[in-house]
Amino acid sequence: MFGKKKRKPLGLYIHIPFCKSKCDYCDFCSLVPNNKGIVEHYTDALILQMEDWSSRCRKHTIDSIYIGGGTPTYLDIRRISRIIDAIYTNFKVEKSAEFTVECNPATADLEYFRKLRRAGVNRLSIGCQSAHPEELKALGRIHNYDQFVACFNDARRAGFDNISVDLMYGIPNQTEQSFIESLTAVTSLGPDHISIYALKIEEGTPFHAMRDKLVLPDEETEYSMYSHAVDYLAAQGYERYEISNFCRKGAASLHNLKYWHCDEYLGLGASAHSYFEDERFATTCVVRDYIDGLEIIGSDINIVASSEKIDSAKCMEEYVMLGMRLTDGIFIEDFEARFNTSFNEKYGVRLDEYVEAGFVEKDDRGYRFTTNGMFVSNYILSAVLDLE
Ligand code: SF4
Repeated sequence: MFGKKKRKPLGLYIHIPFCKSKCDYCDFCSLVPNNKGIVEHYTDALILQMEDWSSRCRKHTIDSIYIGGGTPTYLDIRRISRIIDAIYTNFKVEKSAEFTVECNPATADLEYFRKLRRAGVNRLSIGCQSAHPEELKALGRIHNYDQFVACFNDARRAGFDNISVDLMYGIPNQTEQSFIESLTAVTSLGPDHISIYALKIEEGTPFHAMRDKLVLPDEETEYSMYSHAVDYLAAQGYERYEISNFCRKGAASLHNLKYWHCDEYLGLGASAHSYFEDERFATTCVVRDYIDGLEIIGSDINIVASSEKIDSAKCMEEYVMLGMRLTDGIFIEDFEARFNTSFNEKYGVRLDEYVEAGFVEKDDRGYRFTTNGMFVSNYILSAVLDLE
């Protein structure tokens, strides 16, 4: 909230921590339920948490909702509809709000999409990852490419005119050629938004346990894949607006922009993160604790796993860290209006060191990474912000 003159609308994130099966690279908060009881209890707990937050959010309107996971479409339509109804009952949602639901291609069909659309959902984010069967298998995905295409077409038929698709590079045994084929195949469907992520081997995943045996593309190949994607998508009319995100004109994700602009959002559900009234906090990722903490009256389980007050210095650091992920980068005027301090003195001088090397671009309005710089942005930002 530092330096903001007017309260901006809030983003709302809802986490659904269930999946049909666990992918081998995944470290998200998600589990494969062994009975439907836990799913029903989780839905009840989520609605209780919304009711708890309803009065605290009375002064806020909501202009973006994002139901992510896990696999939100793992929930049957009755359960997800209960959650959507509870959102509208407990929060003031703007009529024009962006409303996204994440979807795994093996878990939703035309009828499901029609019901979501009727319930007010107007954007889907579908995880495709690759068009190659052996790559999908290597990742442990439960769908094949044909299922993804059928799912995409069903979503269009149900009336979704804003669809995002996730693709991945750096998959075991993936080649530059196979990545290009996936990119070309997905782009030919004409999604409105494409997110392209590098596979990361996270601790605690099956991939981490077998990391010495995985044949992964080297860094140079990964860089070629990424820069090919940037050029190819630009030629197809997709503008890169963030390191990993590309869109048709006007189809940038309003919800995700809130994260990169350091705007406020409330996250509900297990492992959800919030930035609300100058505080960042996260809910427990232990699903059972989350349910019991909310459902058992008088329970001493604290569902808040961490919280941190964000003072002006910390907020500035985050603003630069997140804002530099955007293709537009940081506008000096916006920074100075928000923090009432000189950007050039604070960060500009340090960023200047990377201008000559071709990693950062600078003009009268501000600073932004070049394509080369985006690929090594974490390293540069750690140095500029003095992070460990
Ligand atoms: S579908 Fe998504 S959340 Fe579920 S296991 Fe796979 S990567 Fe993780």
